[in-house]
Amino acid sequence: MGKVTRCITTDGAIMMMAADTTDIVASAEQIHGTSAVVTAAFGRLLTACSLMGQSLKGEDNSISLQIKADGPIGTLLAVSDAHANVRGYVGQPIVELPLNRQGKLDVGGAVGKNGNLYVVKDLGLKEPYVGQVPLVSGEIAEDITSYFAVSEQIPTVCALGVLVNPDLSCKAAGGFIIQLLPGAIEEDIVFIENALKDLENVSSMIAQGMTPEAICRLVLKGREVEVLDESACEYRCNCSKERIEKALISTGEKTLRELAEGGKTEEINCQFCDKKYYFDTQDFLRLLKQCKS
Ligand SMILES: [Zn+2]
Repeated sequence: MGKVTRCITTDGAIMMMAADTTDIVASAEQIHGTSAVVTAAFGRLLTACSLMGQSLKGEDNSISLQIKADGPIGTLLAVSDAHANVRGYVGQPIVELPLNRQGKLDVGGAVGKNGNLYVVKDLGLKEPYVGQVPLVSGEIAEDITSYFAVSEQIPTVCALGVLVNPDLSCKAAGGFIIQLLPGAIEEDIVFIENALKDLENVSSMIAQGMTPEAICRLVLKGREVEVLDESACEYRCNCSKERIEKALISTGEKTLRELAEGGKTEEINCQFCDKKYYFDTQDFLRLLKQCKS
């Protein structure tokens, strides 16, 4: 299981969320068969989404992060529920790129730098909240920071990390988001800057077995810290034949008619979890009726 912990300093100045998403990213790699750099990019987005999902207040709320840019990965999508359970989709699961100048997986190169990050929050209202920012670097953590600064006007630090084993399995994954609350003062900004100066990579801390709470307490060392909430979370899809039917109906009458006239049983895979659903001519005719009504 993954874990997300949300903490606040008792003076009400700083909020911090940290996540261990190793198991989530491991599942994502297995389901989508991603190459190393895609596992890193997709894993970072899933981790950010899980962290942001933990802040949702309503039981039925959800949040999705989507990146559309000019890199070879194509579209990246992650969706989280209010308990930090995530699922996602990646346009091109296999991308091979040389390591970047720092000798690391070239996430920015795979994602692309020209494009946008879209944040959609379904808070149970009539219309979902939609935020959009241009990408800063395609490295994802910086793009999330920019989203909070531009769209939500919240000073934020975001760190995301994924370590991939030579056999392509996920060694460790995690991240954190630190936010200044309205009561924060200049001193708090300096405090965070100093705390981050000599901090190890978040994925290394996870690989050493540090829990999300321990990471929060390390970064906020010197402050009194209260744990607000904690979720055990996993890669979780909520697909069902009914949901796939709704998606099929939305493809329109023409497509459904062609499928019905094809006379074959079609296998349709869930894009998020690869579960297989089967539809025969009778199914397509039934959906065609619903499409018209
Ligand atoms: Zn599914």
